[in-house]
Amino acid sequence: MTPDDRVYAYSAVLMGSPILLKLFEHNESLASGVFRLIKHQENTFTVNRPHSDIMAINHAAGRDPVTVSAPVFDLIRRAKAISCLPDSSFNFTIGPLVKRWKIGFSGHSIPAAQDLQTLLALTNPEDVILDEQTRSVFLQQAGMEIDLGAIAKGYIADVVRDYLREQQVENALINLGGNVQTLGAGAEGAWAIGLKKPFSEPDTLIGVINVIGKSVVTSGIYERYFELEGHCYHHILDPKTGYPLDNELLSVTIISEDSINGDIWTTLLYGMGVEKSLAYLEQIPHIEAIFVTRDGQIILSSQRQFTFTPLDDSYRITTY
Ligand code: AMP
Ligand code: MG
Repeated sequence: MTPDDRVYAYSAVLMGSPILLKLFEHNESLASGVFRLIKHQENTFTVNRPHSDIMAINHAAGRDPVTVSAPVFDLIRRAKAISCLPDSSFNFTIGPLVKRWKIGFSGHSIPAAQDLQTLLALTNPEDVILDEQTRSVFLQQAGMEIDLGAIAKGYIADVVRDYLREQQVENALINLGGNVQTLGAGAEGAWAIGLKKPFSEPDTLIGVINVIGKSVVTSGIYERYFELEGHCYHHILDPKTGYPLDNELLSVTIISEDSINGDIWTTLLYGMGVEKSLAYLEQIPHIEAIFVTRDGQIILSSQRQFTFTPLDDSYRITTY
């Protein structure tokens, strides 16, 4: 093994998740630069603390438009466009429901059906008024709350990739707790990214996804959930009903160039279910998906940008 082949791993806990950076050189200052960048992004986008750019918008709901920086405005504009697609299961104004359920946080409970109806009325993405001239964001109704949890990690993973490229890094991996972005091919001709076994120990894998310079993003209902009376309440909510999305899926993984697309599409496809997603994906060749279903299937939409190595015989593999 030449020194160049050696991978140096740096880790931190940020955004409530374990963050892993892999480099091919021992470079503490580069690693610190990456973690500083992530921390800065977290401070901008978080809704789990009293102050951030997003919280400033939320606090001013029903009252004032809030001017934000160009990158924040662009991300919000993008989140609004996806949320306003016909039948979209992605809704960045889902905040009031996320806050009420508290899934993955202490104090979680099942809201009364009437409460959900009241909160659903505060989750219309068309009620977010964007002004390009002043770069301002206005939540028209008091009580509205933006939540970028389904898109921010993907966005930040791409920011890290772009930063590493600027630093002339050609081979690296960043894992933001389920959102992986890669540069180059790793040490063995491709980066190997594990596909987790749902509801098992974090290092129990049912397969490995091999990519070169691509993003791999997984959304799974086992990431954050609570159980009550035999029912699993997980963190991906159905914007139509206010309850966790209930279908045949346990996880959706997206392989794509940009991690922001991976993050968007995991949430969109989650709501579509397998059959509709597969038909949809035929029209967008740069987005590929791996579905893990409740009945023990691993379904691959295609394999243009990655290879897949199964590791668990109890799962049936179907490739389209
Ligand atoms: P992800 O990690 O991409 O699966 O996103 C999950 C997070 O996005 C949740 O923890 C919530 O903060 C938020 N969220 C939940 N349901 C939705 C939804 N239907 N649309 C957009 N964001 C959501
Ligand atoms: Mg997502």
